[in-house]
Amino acid sequence: MTEFDRSHQHIADHSKDGLVVLSAQLTPLLINQSARQYLNIPEQPNDIFKHLDIYTQKRKNIQFNLKEWICSQSFTAEQSHIKTTILWVKTNHQKMLIPVVFQLSKIEGANQQSENYLLLIQDQSSKIEAEAKVCLIKNSGTGQFITNSAGLITEPNSTFICYTGLNRKTLQKMTYIDWLKAQVIFKVPFDFVMDSLLKTGYWIGKIQLNSADQGLSLKKNMPAILTLSMLTDENRNIGHFTGVIQDLSEIQKAHRRIEKLAYYDPLTGLANRTLLHNQLEKLLNKTQTSPCYSALILLDLDNFKMINDTLGYSVGDELLILVTQKLQKLVPQTCLVIRMEGDEFAVLFKEINEDTSIALTQALGLAYKIQDALDDRYALESHSLHCSASMGVYLFNAPPQEGCSDELIRYANMAMHEAKTLGGNQVYLFEDRLCDLAKQRLEMLQALNHSELDEEFQLYFQAQIDAQGQVVSAEALLRWFHPNLGLVPPCDFIPVAEEGRQIIKIGLWVMHKAFIQANEWHKKYKNLRIAINISPIQFHEQSFIELIIGLIKFTHVNPNYITLELTEGVLIQNTTLALQKIQHLVSLGFHISIDDFGTGYSSLSYLQKLPIHELKIDKSFIQHIPDNQDDIAIVDTILKLAQNKQLTVVAEGVETEEQVKFLRQQSGDLLLQGYFFSRPVPAKMFEQQFLISPNNYSISTASTIQSNQTLFPPSNTIN
Ligand code: C2E
Ligand code: CA
Ligand code: CA
Repeated sequence: MTEFDRSHQHIADHSKDGLVVLSAQLTPLLINQSARQYLNIPEQPNDIFKHLDIYTQKRKNIQFNLKEWICSQSFTAEQSHIKTTILWVKTNHQKMLIPVVFQLSKIEGANQQSENYLLLIQDQSSKIEAEAKVCLIKNSGTGQFITNSAGLITEPNSTFICYTGLNRKTLQKMTYIDWLKAQVIFKVPFDFVMDSLLKTGYWIGKIQLNSADQGLSLKKNMPAILTLSMLTDENRNIGHFTGVIQDLSEIQKAHRRIEKLAYYDPLTGLANRTLLHNQLEKLLNKTQTSPCYSALILLDLDNFKMINDTLGYSVGDELLILVTQKLQKLVPQTCLVIRMEGDEFAVLFKEINEDTSIALTQALGLAYKIQDALDDRYALESHSLHCSASMGVYLFNAPPQEGCSDELIRYANMAMHEAKTLGGNQVYLFEDRLCDLAKQRLEMLQALNHSELDEEFQLYFQAQIDAQGQVVSAEALLRWFHPNLGLVPPCDFIPVAEEGRQIIKIGLWVMHKAFIQANEWHKKYKNLRIAINISPIQFHEQSFIELIIGLIKFTHVNPNYITLELTEGVLIQNTTLALQKIQHLVSLGFHISIDDFGTGYSSLSYLQKLPIHELKIDKSFIQHIPDNQDDIAIVDTILKLAQNKQLTVVAEGVETEEQVKFLRQQSGDLLLQGYFFSRPVPAKMFEQQFLISPNNYSISTASTIQSNQTLFPPSNTIN
């Protein structure tokens, strides 16, 4: 190597780019240090094309043939150097692929006759990185700008332009302070922001962006997070400022949506139970400082389940929406209306008054107003129907004993249940007595769980008399004698047993005993029919039919002499399955009677489908005949319907001679049941009275019957 060559080499080694000079025959004449690193060429030998790690694509690892590429190039007058696109080389030094560009030129040789090649290798990493940064700024969902050291906005990205509604040129004439003053509303004083930025180099906070209305902006008054940074060198000379603006409106919208889902009912848009709890907790905390009374009014629609079951859920939903609209119109602004679940609503009447009687008057006043308004006919799309509500009111100005909102709801709920028990469509104010009642129910539930059926329960029988005055059938009615609770009437314990599902076991016991009794009387006397009450819970139990078949086999009862009394509700729920079950029971030989007929939701259409034998007119329709014309009309309709379908009819709750006379005049086939003839009595007594020495109970002997009643124990000891 000559001195001249050495100095060339020395200069070339100082270049960051790789430099290779090749002869026309591709013999390397000069290779600088950077080129050796890029191409992994050892100091000796100088065959540069031997172990090259060059790829056209970073991922696919397709090798690039440098020698072939150089040979294939032809230089024209216009094109004195040729560039490839980005290639990837793997250097021993960095152990990873780095992007490079090869540039090939022809240069004159030292003797000026030959032509050599100059291959320039340039690292592209920083360029690609810079491009990526620009791309990131451009495409990031945030608005960004950079200023020069004087604070003039030099680089606003497109999102920033869009957010501000100002075009690039306008922005570039503004300092960032001009822009802040023109468009940003801070939640803290402006001086505070600038102070923090200049002292710490940084400020971040929530702002409101009032964009210029120039058609560019997406939204006016955009909630956002603004980050301002000041970039300085080590001597704290200001290089530039940057600003990043992040749109919060979508996040806030999502928050609102989540809140809506968490705290509001999707069907009616009313607050839900969770929101009620929150508000009650807040109120309870407040009562410690201001003892103002608030009221919780709980309301439940009467017969809603029946409407839902017979007319379908969409009709039910329509009704709920109409009720919601009524409620919203009625209540004062300070009230929160809540849909608790299903057809249960609540109204929270907040901070009414500190005076008990004023608060009570206002709370009850509102409750009665709601009750009155809801008791109405509702015009739905395809139906017009009547509905009313039962309401419970709880007034409070201090946390309850256990101190939680659950307890408040429970109290209002007890009052609401009392309103239901009293017949519905009324308002009931909570009283402590209801807590005792609830306690009794709990006691009853526990007692039922531990009850010994054979020891505590007994079947009573009540006669049903035909037109000839003969006892043709008897209804089995259950009695529970509890060692501590005494005689518990069925209307008290049956709903509890249904709720706790003990009715399934009890009902099976009733059927068993009634079947045995039917067999015994059938053998000893005559074909007396026995009617058994079946609870809907029992009927809907999956194994109901199997259990009955098992009992028939076990007792050898003849189902032809057994009537099963079902209520309308049973038939309405789950109609197809209910119909199949009834058909099965009928095929086994049982008679089916519809109990309390007329009290359910008046859809007679299901009667067409059902293979039933008997209708029992509810005692509420018998009670006021022959005085009440409406009731007479109802009884008349039922009788005609039954005649048409050739069904037996039983009138229950017959108490007076007038009723007997009236009913006998209506229809000869009517069976009569009621205190006029007999209260329900134990089997032995029934046998004595009606089977061993039967009386004739035709109207002509009505007076005899009256005297006969003395034979039966006084009502309060039996029923
Ligand atoms: P229900 O099936 O409607 O039974 C008729 C009720 O009316 C009986 O009340 C009966 O004692 C009463 N009653 C009969 N004649 C008259 C009358 O002339 N005037 C008045 N005011 N009432 C009369 P009880 O025995 O207290 O039964 C009440 C309800 O308990 C029954 O109503 C029935 O729904 C249910 N129940 C009774 N025993 C059973 C049973 O074994 N299983 C099921 N699931 N429910 C039963
Ligand atoms: Ca009955
Ligand atoms: Ca009945």
